[in-house]
Amino acid sequence: MHLYPLFADLKQRPVLVVGGGVVAQRKAAALRRAGARVTVGAPRLEAGLRDDLVLGLVSYREGRFDPSWLDQAWLVVAATDDRDLNATVAAAADARRILVNVVDDPALCSFQVPAVVDRSPLIVAISSGGAAPVLARRVRERLESLLGHSLGRLADLARRHRGRIRARHPGLAPRRRFYDWLHDGPVAALLRDGREQDADRALRDALDQPAGIPREGRVTLVGAGPGDPGLLTLNALRALQDADVILYDRLVGEGVLDLARRDAERIEVGKRQGEDQQATQARIHDLLVTKARAGHHVVRLKGGDPFVFGRGGEELEHLRAHRVSYAVVPGITAANACAAYAGVPLTHREHAQSVSLLTAHCKDSLDTLDWPALARERQTLAIYMGVARLPMLAEKLIAHGRDPSTPFAIIENGSRPEQRVICGRLADLAQQAGQHQVRAPALLILGEVAALAPKLGWFGAQCTPGAIWQHAA
Ligand code: SAH
Repeated sequence: MHLYPLFADLKQRPVLVVGGGVVAQRKAAALRRAGARVTVGAPRLEAGLRDDLVLGLVSYREGRFDPSWLDQAWLVVAATDDRDLNATVAAAADARRILVNVVDDPALCSFQVPAVVDRSPLIVAISSGGAAPVLARRVRERLESLLGHSLGRLADLARRHRGRIRARHPGLAPRRRFYDWLHDGPVAALLRDGREQDADRALRDALDQPAGIPREGRVTLVGAGPGDPGLLTLNALRALQDADVILYDRLVGEGVLDLARRDAERIEVGKRQGEDQQATQARIHDLLVTKARAGHHVVRLKGGDPFVFGRGGEELEHLRAHRVSYAVVPGITAANACAAYAGVPLTHREHAQSVSLLTAHCKDSLDTLDWPALARERQTLAIYMGVARLPMLAEKLIAHGRDPSTPFAIIENGSRPEQRVICGRLADLAQQAGQHQVRAPALLILGEVAALAPKLGWFGAQCTPGAIWQHAA
């Protein structure tokens, strides 16, 4: 059986809900949101509906259902827990040719209520015709995460300018191209960034342009998280699915790239052989500007969070200097992810009142750190890019007074199937790292909290104190 989909305009129209419980209350609320005038009919009302009645949100017909209740109604919903009564209501509605929905009983319905993704004025309704409500709900969940919450504002904006767009692009094909630009381009991006006035202005400017569609690119700086694709944010996912070009670092997990738009151009921009950091960064800056100026939506995808040891700031400065518009989507940084996946709370009422994110990347970064402060107890250090410097790090901290028995956890490939966690005491840090041949990417967490890893670790195989544990992938 196929159903005919329709969207009903119920503004100011009387509708009847039969039933006085929570289900009836929920149905009444949904109908009210569409502007309907709801009457609830039942021998008695439960507390929720009684409150709604006091607030004037619904009218009330007290007593047993009588077909005369249907006299004014455009629609009726039967929401009682008495199947016979529901059937009576349905039969009475059918006799008067009034559309009826019986909650959870498709056989008695002449209309069904779909699962809905609400981005009003845009509404997506999903139905399996009563055959597979769970499937419909799953589709709804997918769409819910896929469709940004700014879509409603975009639909509103399009509605406001509809006449002007039609006048400016009378031909169907150019008009369609204009709408594609409107939905995929900078106007939608400005709305996502919460800049409604700028979006309105960009749309008006575009309508004034002799060329028709301005091709103006932009960059989204996106944090890809530590590797597990499940740790992406919804905004990151949307940016990836909207990207024309993706510039990504080697650290970005493969599973993350799999989620990107199939036909997006993908460029790995990691450091090349014989190239110094400066040259790599300059190459990335050039690519960002060139690709954006060609009118593309460029996603600059970085491991973890773009603003934590990610040079995100420098890239934004470059974009700003070249007047390329941008947005930033934060990601879960390695310290957060590794701590979570190794069972190490970064702060803890009893063990650590502060946490510092540091890099032990090069000699310079080591020399500029405030060692006496870092060596104090009851604080957590999360150290990035430190694999090669572990011996020196341990030495400096102990020399400045950190207790050699302070626990540590090294998390290699945090959140990935091949994650390894190595636990021990500061005095043995260098020896342990050597023995287990720790490789990048690895993060060192040092502090009293690291002792909790063997107890609270959950990802991968079990850990015993002083030992390493490894995810059995
Ligand atoms: N912007 C990134 C950090 C880039 S610096 C972020 O916010 O996470 C690179 C360093 O991050 C690596 O040397 C390592 O110390 C750490 N790192 C990144 N991903 C990691 C992972 N999956 N497991 C362990 N450490 C990781």
